[in-house]
Order: sequence, then structure tokens, then C-alpha cells
Amino acid sequence: MSQKRGKRGAKENADLLVVNANELVTVGGGSQKPRTGAQMRELGIIRDGSLAVKDGKIVAVGKTPEVIKVFKAENIINANGKTVLPGFVDAHTHLVFAGSREDEFQMRVEGASYMEILGAGGGILRTVRETRKASVEKLGDLTIERLDVMLEHGTTTVEAKSGYGLTTKDELKILEVVQRANQLHAMDVVPTFLGAHAIPFEYQGSPLGYVGLVVDEMIPKVAEKGLAEFCDVFCERGVFGLEQTRRILSAGRNFGLKPKVHADEMSQLGGAELAADFGAVSADHLLFSSDEGLKAMADKGVVAVLLPAAAFCLMNGRFADARVMVNFGVPVALGTDYSPSCMVENMQLVIAFACHFMKLTSAEAITAATINAAHAVGRAGEAGSLEVGKKADVIVLDMPNHKFLGYSFGVNLVDKVVKNGRVVIDKEAQKSEFPISKE
Ligand code: ZN
Repeated sequence: MSQKRGKRGAKENADLLVVNANELVTVGGGSQKPRTGAQMRELGIIRDGSLAVKDGKIVAVGKTPEVIKVFKAENIINANGKTVLPGFVDAHTHLVFAGSREDEFQMRVEGASYMEILGAGGGILRTVRETRKASVEKLGDLTIERLDVMLEHGTTTVEAKSGYGLTTKDELKILEVVQRANQLHAMDVVPTFLGAHAIPFEYQGSPLGYVGLVVDEMIPKVAEKGLAEFCDVFCERGVFGLEQTRRILSAGRNFGLKPKVHADEMSQLGGAELAADFGAVSADHLLFSSDEGLKAMADKGVVAVLLPAAAFCLMNGRFADARVMVNFGVPVALGTDYSPSCMVENMQLVIAFACHFMKLTSAEAITAATINAAHAVGRAGEAGSLEVGKKADVIVLDMPNHKFLGYSFGVNLVDKVVKNGRVVIDKEAQKSEFPISKE
């Protein structure tokens, strides 16, 4: 058993004990670097596992008899027959937007491509129109509702990008909604500035003018107000090219924003190479990346955030080649890519897609959805694994072992969610209240 401290004789008081887990999946063993290759299958499973929580943190992890020899608590979760995991980390979402695009979904079903819809003023640009019109209060309410659904499905940390404002005022508005949601909601929300998500209507004739606005006005303001940790760019043919992407990421870095890239989603533009060369924290999507680009990412330790639900929504049957990435030693992480064109809050379904379409094993997909995703969003020191000293972000799943993730899909396997040591979702007891506050 690993624990912070223990006395002989009298038992120490914990705030919460989780005991008798059929499998306690720690994903432990050090969080300095994201997992690669064969390490992605090492889940650090403890049978008849238990953990103790105090002051919102994990203070002991081990076999049940060992943990309860040292700790007692009034609040005890009996996870008999169940599997306990770290809360999921969703490494890529476009959380804050107004409106929906279900009619465009019908067009896509009938064969229209994403880029065709975007070219006709639909897609992102339509959501931009609706998001600009929406008030902070309206966007805040929508965001809180979405976070509730994510938490119910076992996500305890989520990255959230701006990118549906595309004016300085509206990008700041979205990031302020993200900041407020992080303060109000139990979920930890990691903010990313994605002003370079699309060229807005008013700059259709002068994309470089828009890049100038992002670089000279938006990034300094976002940084000054402390509203983002990461700067991301939709690097794609017809959106932001390689040179523009470098310019925007450099400006972000000068203001302390860590780089991320939407890379090689629709074509092989060299986004993976750029991410490696630039030392990005992550490159996301990677459906068309070259072997050279992926090897360069492996060398530099750039996390590949794969978004199989987004690929599923593109409906062309293509998915990122996760097996090649794991073989090359690229650290692989997962995210939902929740957005108006990919309406999924559920990381369990993303894990199922990762297994079915990208041939990750359940163990690899769990690593990708926890500790590696935590690395992708700069939270590996506090989330993504069940280890002493980390936040007590713990989920109890109604399944006998971890291999049910991926195998059993389309239902919510979550029985309980513990966030910062507090039980916030309890399906058994139906005690949840919505929205779920921080305290
Ligand atoms: Zn995205």
C-alpha cells in the first residue's frame, strides 16, 4: 500500500473510503511523462482495491485490508463487484457555443462534406453568428448543462476552446464563460484560446488581416486577462496554413500560452511535423499525418490527441492510425471534440470508438483517456491517475473489470463520481443535484 502517513494503533480519520473494488485501476507509476508504447497497457490494477481520501486528495491506495487497517471513515463507498478508475480527462472540446446544427447533419448524411458546408457559410461560421448574438448568461447556462452531462458520464477534467466568436470582444466573452464555469461547476475546466478556428465573414477577402487581429490584439488581451493557458490553431488547407499557424503559435508563446494544433484532419498538410518542430504540447486529430511527422512527434514527446468521435461524424470511414502511433512511441490521448458538429459528451463512447475503429485495447484507451489526456492539458500533476497526493477524482463503474470499457457501449456505466473528494454523482442513491456546484 502507498500512503502519506500512518500511525501504529489508532486508525486515522479519512473523509471517504472506497473499498472492495473488483479492480482498482490506478494508472499509477509516475506522472512525469505521458505513457508510450507498451506502457500504455500497464494500468497498475489492484484487485480488491481501496483508496482513502482526505481534504479532497488521495491519501492511500492499496488492497482493501491494508487500507482499512490504517484508515477509517464515516463515508464509505462499497465498490464490491465494480471497477474504480481515475475520472476521465477530456482533452479536446469546443464547449461554449449557441445554437445547434442538426439540419446540417442531415445534409452530411446525404453526402455533403464538412468543407462544402463551411464554404457555403454554414458549419463553424453559422455557429459564430449565433454565438455572437448570445448573452454571457445564456452561454453560461448552456455550458453548465453540458458540464453536468459530462460529469454524469465520468469526466472530471475537461479542456474547453474558444473559437466561435472570432472578434476580440466575442472571443473574450467565450473565455470569460469558460472561466466562470470553472469557478461555479465541480468540473475542472482548462481554457484554450482558439481565435484561429476559422476566417470570419468580415475577413473572407483578407485572411492575413484576420491573422493580424489574432496576433496583435486578441492574444495580448487574452493573456492580459489571464483567460487561457493554451493557444490552438485550426491548421488546415483553406483555413490557416503552416506559416500562419507558426505566426499565431509564436505570438501565443510570447504571451505565455502553450501551443496546441488541430493538425492533418482533412489533408496531409504537415501539421504533425509543425507540432514537433514547434514543440507543441499536443497535436490533435492527425487523420492524414505522415510517418515522418508522427516519428518527429514521438521524438519530441508531443501528445497525439485523437478524436475518433469527430472522425465518426465526418462519415468518410477514415480514422487516425493509432496503432502506428503507439508503435512509433507517440503518446496517445483521447478527447470527445464536443462541438455542434460532434455532439458527444461521453468519454466512454469515445473509448469504444477508439477500440473499434482505431484498434486500441481497452487498457490503451483507458490510459489515453486518463493520464495521457491529463498530460495533453497540463494537469498530469494533479489528475489522470489514482495516486497519493493527487486530487480525489474517482469514478466507480458498474462493470466487473476494465475490459468492459469499449466492449459495453452506448450506455452509461458510471455508478458514482467523486470530484475533489466529494461524491457528486450517485446513481444508486439518486442524490445528484443540478447544476453541481464547486463546494
Ligand atoms: Zn477541435
